[in-house]
Amino acid sequence: TGKLEGKRVLITAAGQGIGRASVLAFAREGAIVHATDINQQLLDALPKEANIKPRKLDVLKAEEVTQVIGEIGAIDVLFNCAGFVHGGSILDMPDADLDFALDLNVRAMIRTIRAVLPGMIERKDGAIVNMSSVASSVKGVPNRFAYGVTKAAVLGITKSVAADYITQGIRCNAICPGTVESPSLEQRMRAGGDYDATRAAFIARQPMGRLGLPEEIADLAVYLAGATYTTGQAYNIDGGWTV
Ligand code: NAD
Repeated sequence: TGKLEGKRVLITAAGQGIGRASVLAFAREGAIVHATDINQQLLDALPKEANIKPRKLDVLKAEEVTQVIGEIGAIDVLFNCAGFVHGGSILDMPDADLDFALDLNVRAMIRTIRAVLPGMIERKDGAIVNMSSVASSVKGVPNRFAYGVTKAAVLGITKSVAADYITQGIRCNAICPGTVESPSLEQRMRAGGDYDATRAAFIARQPMGRLGLPEEIADLAVYLAGATYTTGQAYNIDGGWTV
C-alpha cells in the first residue's frame, strides 16, 4: 500500500507542470486526489483513474473556492501550487503585475487555507504544503520583484499558520524550487527571443548543470504531506542554487 493510502488531497494548479506531476505522485501513493485548475482542457487530459478527481477551480475567485471546497468535503492534505512569474525590477514593474501576483501567489493561498483549516482542526489532522520558490526571502533573483515579494510572503503564511495551529494537529510547510521544466518556464524561455541562449542562462544558474523535473518537486510534496514531525519549514529543492 501507498504512503498516503486513502488520504484526501486537494491540489491547486494541477493541470500542468509541478501540479500535474504531483497529482500523479499522490495518486501513486494511494491518495484520493482532487485535481483542480482553472483550465478545463488540462483537467480533461489527466489520466482517468478512480482516485484522480478533476475539478475546475479558479483560485482567484473567493466564492468559487468556498463553494468547491465545501462540496468536496473533508481534505487531509492541501497542496497550494498555483502561482505566476512576472519579470521586472521594482522600477519597471507595472502596478497591475504586483496586484495580480499578490492576488494569485498570496491571497489565493490564504483563501484555500481558510477554507480547509476548520475541518482539519476538527479532525485534529491536516497537512498544508505551499509553493514558494528560492526567489523569495531565500534568495534575491534579478528581475523578479513581484515574484520575489509574493513568494517571500508565502513563507510568512507558512510559518504563521504552522505556529498558530501546531498544537491542533496541523502542519504547514513550503517548497522552494530552483528552475524547473514546465510549460510556463518553456513560455518564458520562448518569450526571451533567443530560446537557446535563454535556456542556457537558466541552466547556468543551476550548479547541477540541469533544470529540475516536476516529478522531483512532486516527490517533496508527497514527503511533506506525510512528514509527521516537521512544520513551518521552507525546503529548498534547487539543483544547488543556494549551496
Ligand atoms: P505552470 O506555471 O506551467 O502551470 C500553472 C498552472 O496553473 C496551469 O495549469 C494553469 O492553468 C493554472 N492556473 C493559472 N491560474 C489559475 C487560477 N487562477 N486558478 C487555478 N489554476 C490556475 O506550472 P509550474 O511552472 O510547475 O509552476 C507551479 C508553481 O510552482 C507556481 O506557483 C510557480 O511559481 C512555482 N515554481 C515554479 C518554478 C519553475 O521553475 N517552474 C520554480 C519555482 C516555483
